[in-house]
Amino acid sequence: MKKPLFLTLLCVLSLGLFAANNKKPSERELVSQNMPKIEAPSKKYKVLCFSKPYGFRHNSIEIGKTMMEVMAEKTGLFDVTFSEDLTEFAPDRIKQYDAICLNNNTHLQKGMKDEKMRETFIKYVKNGGGIFAIHSATDGGWKEYVEMIGGNFDGHPWGAGGTWGIANEDPNHPIVKDVYKGENFTIKDEIYQYKDFDRSKNRVLMTLDLSHEATGKKNGKRADKDYAVAWVKNYGEGRVFVSSLGHNKEIFYHPEILKMWAEGFRFVLGEADVDTSSVPKPAAK
Ligand SMILES: [Zn+2]
Repeated sequence: MKKPLFLTLLCVLSLGLFAANNKKPSERELVSQNMPKIEAPSKKYKVLCFSKPYGFRHNSIEIGKTMMEVMAEKTGLFDVTFSEDLTEFAPDRIKQYDAICLNNNTHLQKGMKDEKMRETFIKYVKNGGGIFAIHSATDGGWKEYVEMIGGNFDGHPWGAGGTWGIANEDPNHPIVKDVYKGENFTIKDEIYQYKDFDRSKNRVLMTLDLSHEATGKKNGKRADKDYAVAWVKNYGEGRVFVSSLGHNKEIFYHPEILKMWAEGFRFVLGEADVDTSSVPKPAAK
């Protein structure tokens, strides 16, 4: 009797080990595995990650927070404070942060109604603060906010379930040069079209690639067909990085997108100096 019992136990144990080895990695593990290495930072910065939406709540908000936590841990670039409370934008609170990550906070104008608070926020950026805007942080806002971001949501003909072509327009730019080695690529996410977007005020890094068949078939609203997907800009003394990508959870552990985001953070924190001067749209190939 002893031998079969021993064999059964061995069998159960092996199956257990097999299951453990084949366990699907958690989202946190995926973020961690795919987080790129960056140049050693000169100091540790302080970042506020603000995650409260006042319109549509994306279910990628939580993974956005995980991404921030893992980026802070693995790169050593910053410490992150999470908040859904507008009191962090009060003058004596906001000043401690080197940058603010706007984590899918749709329609900030509906929450931040107080004129003084809006002024404090805009002044914070103009005086040298950094802004890292993810996806629906570009949806809404008041006049100065939209000016600071550089564009405003105007629908998304390119929906979250589709796979769309992205043109890496600036393959030598430090923020995107390593993303697919500077080549164009496809990605599954919801891509916004923008109004109040003026290329001459932003350094566009990536756009929708309308030469990609499925992407080009959709009808956007812009007469100039200029659908920016990622850009950087200066606003006063401040630095702004915008990523239209960030609807689907997978974006937050996509190894190529994380490369762009890590470099984007180095820029908004003032750790990396990059060219923010506008360039014209390249001629269609
Ligand atoms: Zn979305």
